[in-house]
Amino acid sequence: MSSELVIVYHRQPYEEVVENGKTVLRENKSPNGIVPTLKSFFGSVDHGAWVAWKLAEDPSNPDFEKVVEIEDAYGKYSVSRLPLSADQVREFYHITSKEAFWPIIHSFKERYNYDPVDWPNFRQVNWQFAEAAAAEAAEGALVWVHDYNLWLVPGYLRKLRPDLRISFFHHTPFPSADAFNVLPWRREIIESLLACDDVGFHIPRYAANFVSVVRSLFDLEVKRVPAPEHMISEGTALTERTMPTEITYQGRRVGVSVTPVGIDTDFIDKRARLPETDAAVAKIREELGDAKLVLSVGRTDYTKGGVEQLTSFERILTNNPELIGKVRLMHVSVSANRNMAAYNQVQEEIETIAGRLNGRFGTLEWQPVTLVSRAIPFDELVSYYRAADVAWITPLADGMNLVCKEFIASRIDGKGALVLSEFAGAAVELHTAVITNPFSFRSMDTAILSAIAMSEEEQRGRMEELRKAVLKNNIKAWGEAVEASHTKAKQSVDAA
Ligand code: UDP
Repeated sequence: MSSELVIVYHRQPYEEVVENGKTVLRENKSPNGIVPTLKSFFGSVDHGAWVAWKLAEDPSNPDFEKVVEIEDAYGKYSVSRLPLSADQVREFYHITSKEAFWPIIHSFKERYNYDPVDWPNFRQVNWQFAEAAAAEAAEGALVWVHDYNLWLVPGYLRKLRPDLRISFFHHTPFPSADAFNVLPWRREIIESLLACDDVGFHIPRYAANFVSVVRSLFDLEVKRVPAPEHMISEGTALTERTMPTEITYQGRRVGVSVTPVGIDTDFIDKRARLPETDAAVAKIREELGDAKLVLSVGRTDYTKGGVEQLTSFERILTNNPELIGKVRLMHVSVSANRNMAAYNQVQEEIETIAGRLNGRFGTLEWQPVTLVSRAIPFDELVSYYRAADVAWITPLADGMNLVCKEFIASRIDGKGALVLSEFAGAAVELHTAVITNPFSFRSMDTAILSAIAMSEEEQRGRMEELRKAVLKNNIKAWGEAVEASHTKAKQSVDAA
């Protein structure tokens, strides 16, 4: 009971590796990603705590080391690890979270799979997270819970520790009531979220959707303000002109905050300027000859629109034979969830289309598609970002999408074109990208063709604005905005 800040996130804040037969905890190799960002919040408190799960052969084994103390560049913090069995992880994470919640969060109702869900297990795992957080939190501490797989934690935590401040952040989209209310547990989930002092989202639309869902279930009052000017992008599907900031439910105030996550632009800038990055970029360009490089990077997931993108590439090569031999697509699609039927199917489709494209159009010297299914280390990715002529990022739904921001931050040369789906959260901030609708063949094909043909002058004009947006609203700005929403929540708790 000693931490002023408790972060509840399903993954541990380090990598566990076995060296010389011993398990050691190592700093996450990737400097990008959310974990280091969250850890940096420990810098502003005397002692923090992190709650995550850890696979255990026998969760009841008394020798399982539940709490470890860490002292690193981020400060002093405990990591409380919940021992979960492989079956519990499969049911909590791979089934309930990925097969039932994930499709709904991204508004793919037809992919929703209810049958295998073990709801009592989901409740139990969330309860364990809440108990562990309650055990770590000091009187009046802030507990910051992350993402949909921990939706029930705030409600349990409020019962266990009414003194705490509780904030929740969604790293994903939040769907409208039409999609969300497919979930039979909708009432239980929303009641839990209403136990928070603050519920956070990336963009005004997701906050508005949340309020629409709450309103479909309960009576409440809502305060709204105009959305910030820089998040109003004319003609983008996710733009919302006003946003909720606060709801009052049964006399209790719940803050609703909008804080779009940014990236570590300083780190990427330094990386992009290294001599070894210059050398890597020169090598990639030399191999390309005078062909243009279109780069696509994402996870293998139906929400990322990989299949739709490859079929667009096939259409444009079919309809524009002058591009054959002149444009190469590097399609990086990393499988994060192997052994799940939905993802394996996407992987197979991607492999089939890429193979067909290379078979139809390729020669010994030139292949239209280079498919990469392994994760590329971030350092190398920066070289590809810098070497590409076009970044082609066209998810069907995406909470934010950091890849497009990383591409922009890497373009220290001020060139390069970004084609971005209007269904990526980032699109509301990146007004001068070439915005496309991945559900439309025509929109997809025209957008990529215009980006391939874009003059250097136009690239520079658009990139200048994109860089301003990404450099200004970077990870530091996100941290400050989040701190501000936590402070606001504290003030209203104190006032109550
Ligand atoms: N990434 C990477 N190597 C790869 C592909 C992706 O390091 O081969 C990183 C990428 O730099 C980005 C993250 O994975 O930081 C993906 O984040 P994003 O928000 O775009 O998508 P998510 O996978 O979180 O939906």
